[in-house]
Amino acid sequence: MREHYDVLVAGAGPAGLAAARAAASRGARVGLLDAQPRAGGQVWRHDVRLPAPRAARHAIDTLRRVELLARHSVVAAESAALRVETPQDSRLLSYGALVLATGARELLLPFPGWTLPGVTGAGGLQALAKQGWPVAGKRVVVAGSGPLLLAAADTLRKHGAQVLGICEQASANAVRSFAWQLRRWPARTWQAAGLRLRLAGVPYRFGSFVREAIGDGTVRGVAIEAPGGVQRVECDLLAVGYGLVPNTELASLLGCALDDADTHPRVQVDALLRTSVADIYAAGEACGIGGLAVARIEGAMAGHMAVGDIASANALLPRRDRARRFGALLARHFALDPRLRTLADDHTLVCRCEDVRLGALAGFGDARTAKLATRCGMGACQGRICGTALAELGRFPRDGERPPVFPARLATLAGLAALPSDDA
Ligand SMILES: Cc1cc2nc3c(=O)[nH]c(=O)nc-3n(C[C@H](O)[C@H](O)[C@H](O)COP(=O)(O)OP(=O)(O)OC[C@H]3O[C@@H](n4cnc5c(N)ncnc54)[C@H](O)[C@@H]3O)c2cc1C
Repeated sequence: MREHYDVLVAGAGPAGLAAARAAASRGARVGLLDAQPRAGGQVWRHDVRLPAPRAARHAIDTLRRVELLARHSVVAAESAALRVETPQDSRLLSYGALVLATGARELLLPFPGWTLPGVTGAGGLQALAKQGWPVAGKRVVVAGSGPLLLAAADTLRKHGAQVLGICEQASANAVRSFAWQLRRWPARTWQAAGLRLRLAGVPYRFGSFVREAIGDGTVRGVAIEAPGGVQRVECDLLAVGYGLVPNTELASLLGCALDDADTHPRVQVDALLRTSVADIYAAGEACGIGGLAVARIEGAMAGHMAVGDIASANALLPRRDRARRFGALLARHFALDPRLRTLADDHTLVCRCEDVRLGALAGFGDARTAKLATRCGMGACQGRICGTALAELGRFPRDGERPPVFPARLATLAGLAALPSDDA
């Protein structure tokens, strides 16, 4: 089945929603697709128990003249068209202009015990709780880096979890300096103050990180490296995330240039969010981690650009530049402690999908060769987790993208124009 849209938006998070709204306001036929069953992306993920924030309700409920294509995963790109898989079938969606609003995912770094049941990402556990996974009464340690730890802990508490503590790897000085500079973004300051207030009584430890998850069949405790030495804490769940990494796979597949491609890739855009490929725009976290405000402003700009309304996009430029400075502040103050890159030993699994240990990768010079010999990165996540972690550990640069970017049914693959021949 083939369908044509004047503007197709990939990703229905805050950036994609704003892009679709802006493009539709000029009368274009707009399709807004997302792999998830509902619009909202990460920050506005539907919560089965709690009401959505007002901004989310407004962005989603007042969207008009936009075809929302939920449960549509983009698995491949063809000439000015995306191959998507739905629960029923596969479809080809062609476009006049495309907006990439594919967001970000958590950075997970391997450490001994990180694959034990009960160990998740921080945002990962937040997402599970929102989707109804029972956390009430569970003792949870939240660890890693960045403001997402506070947001995750807040959600977990609202769902009845007992958050034993938050371990932030950045130093106390770095976090204090971040908090001080946050005053330049008053909305952020209020948000952070609200979180700290709601999390009163939950210890927030700086310069601390998880050295090991301990358990037999499931996590039972955690060894935390803290400024005063190693501490052991018993827990039922451990949620660890080291910030976010942009989802650039689709952009890469489409031939869009990436900045910092080997280690911290993000979609390369000009001031008006044009990628290096004509008629393809990108917005939000896919272009670099910047937070909700960036996503909403850039989404609107990209939507305007996609329908040729350069003046409206230009008018948003000063707000966008200001919001982007917040991303730079985050990166500066939550830079990762080099010790985190040495936690995994030869016995630590790095590729959870294919059970490949770090030691098995010794001697390989690049991700592709290692993948062909060990299957590292060939599983369901297609290297999103292990490939990103290995690049962060300084082992291999990221491997290039090839379809399918998400696991797909054979019938979908059969419909692709061409598949790579050596290791699909
Ligand atoms: C797990 C997690 C939890 C977070 N929680 C918070 C929070 O509580 N508070 C906060 O301020 N910020 C949070 N963030 C930060 C968040 O990324 C931004 O604030 C905001 O959601 C970014 O908006 P976006 O539209 O750029 O991307 P996103 O919100 O990430 O939206 C991108 C969308 O694209 C879709 N997508 C990607 N690739 C494909 C594909 N190939 N096919 C189909 N669909 C695709 C995804 O399903 C997703 O819905 C979280 C981030 C993560 C990763």
